[in-house]
Amino acid sequence: MEGKKGIAILGSTGSIGTQALEVIGAYPDKFDLQVITANRNADLLISQAIKHKPNIVVIADESLYKKVNDALWEHDINVYAGADSVAQVTDTKEVDTVLTALVGYAGLKPTLTAIRAGKSIALANKETLVVAGEIVTQEAREKGVNLYPVDSEHAAIFQCLVGEFHNPIEKIYLTASGGPFRGFTHEQLLKVKKEQALKHPNWDMGAKITIDSATMMNKGLEVIEAKWLFSLKPEQIDVIVHPQSIIHSLVQFEDGSMKAQMGLPDMKLPIQYALTYPDRYKTDFERFNFMDYPELTFEQPDRETFKNLNLAYSAMEMGGNAACALNAANEVGVAAFLKDEVSFLDIARINEETMNSITSIAKPTYDDYVASDAEARRLAKELIK
Ligand code: NDP
Repeated sequence: MEGKKGIAILGSTGSIGTQALEVIGAYPDKFDLQVITANRNADLLISQAIKHKPNIVVIADESLYKKVNDALWEHDINVYAGADSVAQVTDTKEVDTVLTALVGYAGLKPTLTAIRAGKSIALANKETLVVAGEIVTQEAREKGVNLYPVDSEHAAIFQCLVGEFHNPIEKIYLTASGGPFRGFTHEQLLKVKKEQALKHPNWDMGAKITIDSATMMNKGLEVIEAKWLFSLKPEQIDVIVHPQSIIHSLVQFEDGSMKAQMGLPDMKLPIQYALTYPDRYKTDFERFNFMDYPELTFEQPDRETFKNLNLAYSAMEMGGNAACALNAANEVGVAAFLKDEVSFLDIARINEETMNSITSIAKPTYDDYVASDAEARRLAKELIK
């Protein structure tokens, strides 16, 4: 539509997706919702489509096509089904920006397709960069496509860099809340249950990232994401635990100056900025009050007990397909933990053993990543038996 930004939300039924719909719905004169997609949550997808009136809706699970199509045909909304449709649906001239809010490896192909179609990317799906950061960022550069980070830490770094893009970064600090098990010993972690792991102290998120936060894998994935987004070396990326989640991350420049971005933990802000950059639209989001936080505290992460953070650094050192294997193993391990098939500490064990057993490929192509993902999933499942 003339003058408005055409938006596709891949994964509209998730935590990021539903918040993105709130953001887009608040500015009907700025955004034109073109596409929404889901995996299996047909009921929510249908109600979102009726309320927000996109042109196209995709349900990844093909068995749910009839249900969604029957519900939406009288609303004049085109309905498609299947993983290929999710991947291809953004390649239409009405879409300007694609918000990748799907979870996991499933985000890789749709993100690459959108980049090849020249769309701006608002990137929530960090797994895409973890799995195949090298080819994703290279293709984005070749196409002149910008990747706007949605992850709050990376959105913070990005905001600190605005006006500074020509100034080299000495170092960045990604902040971590520490999750629900901050301060727990190895012995205490032996007994934790998924219900405890699913209770994040500061953020209300989808199940997979919530477990990743509890195991510190999320911070590990974010370190790898930051390497690719901001072209950094691993030794330029540090992690500091900041339990209040007010400072969302920091950049240290070569003159020693540090810039931080702060605010209350609310994903709507980074989602919105990724869609409106370089502008900031007025919001009624709750404002930060210093007197509610008389102390902001910092501590070192416990890398011995929470092994996943160091595994991410090892994956970067190993390069090639190592991070792809780590990601696949972690998806398998987290899914098994959510089904009570493995213990909390098994997740890091599965990650480590899978990453160390994968057939190493130094310079993977896209097809190599697909094969490595499949091989790592096989290896990880063997470790669960
Ligand atoms: P959710 O699990 O809440 O939502 C995932 C979305 O992806 C849903 O719409 C889901 O559909 C869809 N989906 C899942 N699997 C597939 C698949 N195989 N094919 C197509 N669609 C699929 O996740 P979140 O919103 O929490 O996270 C999304 C991404 O954003 C993740 O990469 C996460 O790391 C990142 N992120 C999330 C944050 C948060 O606050 N939640 C913060 C920072 C980053 P359905 O509902 O039908 O299952």
